[in-house]
Amino acid sequence: MAEYIVKILDVKQLTHDVKRFRVEKPEGYIFKPGQATGVAINTPELKKRRRSFTFTGLNEDTHLEFTIKIYPEHNGLTKDLDAAVPGTELLIGSPWGAITYKGKGVFIAGGAGITPFISIFRDLQARNELSGNMLLFANKTRADIILEKELRDMLDGAFVNILSDEEQEGYFGGFISEEFLRTHVSDLGVNFYLCGPPLMMRTVTDLLAGLGVDKKAVTMDL
Ligand SMILES: Cc1cc2nc3c(=O)[nH]c(=O)nc-3n(C[C@H](O)[C@H](O)[C@H](O)COP(=O)(O)OP(=O)(O)OC[C@H]3O[C@@H](n4cnc5c(N)ncnc54)[C@H](O)[C@@H]3O)c2cc1C
Repeated sequence: MAEYIVKILDVKQLTHDVKRFRVEKPEGYIFKPGQATGVAINTPELKKRRRSFTFTGLNEDTHLEFTIKIYPEHNGLTKDLDAAVPGTELLIGSPWGAITYKGKGVFIAGGAGITPFISIFRDLQARNELSGNMLLFANKTRADIILEKELRDMLDGAFVNILSDEEQEGYFGGFISEEFLRTHVSDLGVNFYLCGPPLMMRTVTDLLAGLGVDKKAVTMDL
């Protein structure tokens, strides 16, 4: 498998625990919006600690972009990435992943599970094809919502937020339920795209099946 050494170009704090990393793009490197790649820090001690991260930029960009939730308590790669600065070398592999756009539909994301959809939405927006898609985005609190303003600007009324741990005017409360899906999804015959923590994925998959959504219409990383 191909492996590329790329330097971090800049780092920006997006939420209290999410950072955007812009990194060099190897020549001719192409990914499909929604795909991910393996990332490690290129030092002898850390190069074996590889995790997958999703491209959140566009192929047209001159750099690659990752949007990464930092887990300081894990003592894993994201803790080390939290300390990374412009100039830090990363190792990245080839693009891979099952989440790609198959046509208009409902995107359901939990927390950092929004990352494949950021790239898909930005790509559709750039091609003027975003209209007709909808995002249901589940988070604990409003402060956890990644790129809320950009998503609202792109999707307008087709952007519904649900918060499990906080009551906020204009935001739905609780977890995604059958009632929530029935309220917000007018057509169950469209494509569904899911990405989020394992428990949310299991719950939403079961809810969609219970509502009669065809398994083949549901796209997610396995
Ligand atoms: C296809 C794909 C794409 C992905 N894209 C993204 C993305 O774009 N952005 C993003 O942020 N993430 C993404 N992820 C998730 C990412 O790959 C990592 O799993 C996540 O960032 C956690 O990595 P970590 O190294 O910090 O910790 P981990 O690898 O999860 O954990 C390291 C160690 O911490 C300990 N640990 C684990 N859980 C806990 C806990 N709850 N409390 C205390 N200690 C614990 C364990 O000992 C573990 O070995 C993606 C995953 C996949 C599969």
